[in-house]
Amino acid sequence: MPDGIRRYLRAKKAPALGVGCPHCGAHAHRPCTTPSKRHVLVVPHAVRVSAWVRLVACCPACQVTPGVECHSDGRALPDGAVHARREAEALEVAA
Ligand SMILES: [Zn+2]
Ligand SMILES: [Zn+2]
Repeated sequence: MPDGIRRYLRAKKAPALGVGCPHCGAHAHRPCTTPSKRHVLVVPHAVRVSAWVRLVACCPACQVTPGVECHSDGRALPDGAVHARREAEALEVAA
């Protein structure tokens, strides 16, 4: 994860929280939790951030529109990952 987004996620209002977390099942606007749901995580799960990035930003690297998965050589990136440039784009949109 690039430093920029990491810093950004520590900020109080992480816009990624606008979507639910596919990893721990946290609902939109609720923080991520550990699988036991006993502990709240300060930083959302990476897959949640990717899900949010996919939802709000086009990808300058692979030219997909919001909602579409990033791909490389005709295959979707593993685990719903997104290109770093798309993350940067999403942060711009949210700013
Ligand atoms: Zn989560
Ligand atoms: Zn992409």
